Amino acid sequence: MKIVVCVSHVPDTATKINVGSDGKTIDQNGVTYVVNPYDEFAIEEALKTKEKSGGEVVIVSVGTDKNKDTIRKALAMGADSAVLLKDENYRDSFAVAKALAEEIKAQDARIIFFGKQSVDYDNSITGQMTAEMLGYNCVTVVVRLEIDGDKVTAEREIEGGKEVVETSLPVVITAQKGLNEPRYASLKGIMQAKKKKIEEKDAAAADNNLEIVKMFKPAPKAPGKIVGEDVSAVPELVRLLREEAKVI
Ligand SMILES: Cc1cc2nc3c(=O)[nH]c(=O)nc-3n(C[C@H](O)[C@H](O)[C@H](O)COP(=O)(O)OP(=O)(O)OC[C@H]3O[C@@H](n4cnc5c(N)ncnc54)[C@H](O)[C@@H]3O)c2cc1C
Repeated sequence: MKIVVCVSHVPDTATKINVGSDGKTIDQNGVTYVVNPYDEFAIEEALKTKEKSGGEVVIVSVGTDKNKDTIRKALAMGADSAVLLKDENYRDSFAVAKALAEEIKAQDARIIFFGKQSVDYDNSITGQMTAEMLGYNCVTVVVRLEIDGDKVTAEREIEGGKEVVETSLPVVITAQKGLNEPRYASLKGIMQAKKKKIEEKDAAAADNNLEIVKMFKPAPKAPGKIVGEDVSAVPELVRLLREEAKVI
């Protein structure tokens, strides 16, 4: 059985992000990419599922040649193979989901893992849309998972508590932090990943439904104000918080 993990790459949090000269995209200069953190939980759960029930873990990513570094990291963790669905052009989440759904169909995979969210564009919808396109069951923000034959039991994180749900294969799971502890790639894993196959295909054609019209950084914060350095400053501080900042 094929187990597919959909992996996106995101700018490293240590990278300083600037808006490109077109005002619509990120300036790629000096940006380094890492595996989307939530996707690491997805990869780990796929590997654990394989270790328990057998199968083959396939990484699928939509993007450009730059995604290959990220894919190699997923392969180094222990995934068996990978498919890069290539497109040089901007794709919105719908168009990414369309490409993923076509590939999952071709792979005939019945267990699909996503991260709950890509930490760059933050849409949190690609997994759900892919499930809908495939007609698969879908459980989101999963923090505990058990797959027994066709039966799927999952614990979800909800506001102020947890929820346990049951469903059946085929299923799309979106992984939340806490689902597991992602393993580090071993030196052996890193060496083996270099030899593992990354199949390259054109991403299935899909029209975007969204157009990015503008991207901008928040206005710089006004400099801080020191109103005094001992207890005598408290009345003025309270006045400013009440009358200027209007927070009390
Ligand atoms: C070639 C290319 C260029 C892009 N250029 C821009 C741009 O200039 N500006 C912009 O705002 N956005 C751009 N995007 C991002 C795009 O708009 C989608 O929003 C993005 O791929 C999905 O991110 P999301 O926040 O919607 O994901 P979410 O819905 O938050 O992601 C949930 C999960 O879906 C999976 N996933 C998400 N993306 C991918 C992927 N690409 N491949 C495999 N699995 C995935 C991961 O498991 C992830 O954890 C580009 C995408 C591509 C492929």
